Amino acid sequence: MALVCPKCERGTLKVTAAIELAPTARADEMAVQMVACPTCSFEGVAVYEESRRGALDDEWVNHMAYAATEEGLRAARRLIRACPHKRDPRCGCASHRALADYDTVEGVEWEHPMPILFRR
Ligand SMILES: [Zn+2]
Ligand SMILES: [Zn+2]
Repeated sequence: MALVCPKCERGTLKVTAAIELAPTARADEMAVQMVACPTCSFEGVAVYEESRRGALDDEWVNHMAYAATEEGLRAARRLIRACPHKRDPRCGCASHRALADYDTVEGVEWEHPMPILFRR
């Protein structure tokens, strides 16, 4: 299974870093990721949301990539790197607290979500 790059549409998008965040009102799983595509050099920030509530066909995944400036990429990468427990949604570190409002990270084009698709 491959992640499709939202820029060049090749199945070469890679998640290069990730931090799991606390569940939200609509998602049981929530993560902020750094994504990069070696084919077209796209680099961005991504948000992954998954809900497993209710019946099987109510399950959904929302995976969006966002373009960012160099500073935006650096800021997001720094926040993810600084967390000592990236796979613990209940971690209370400064990064986790800051990323609870991830869309306040500056330099990221939060108003332009690009869907990340799966290819089998
Ligand atoms: Zn690409
Ligand atoms: Zn943390």
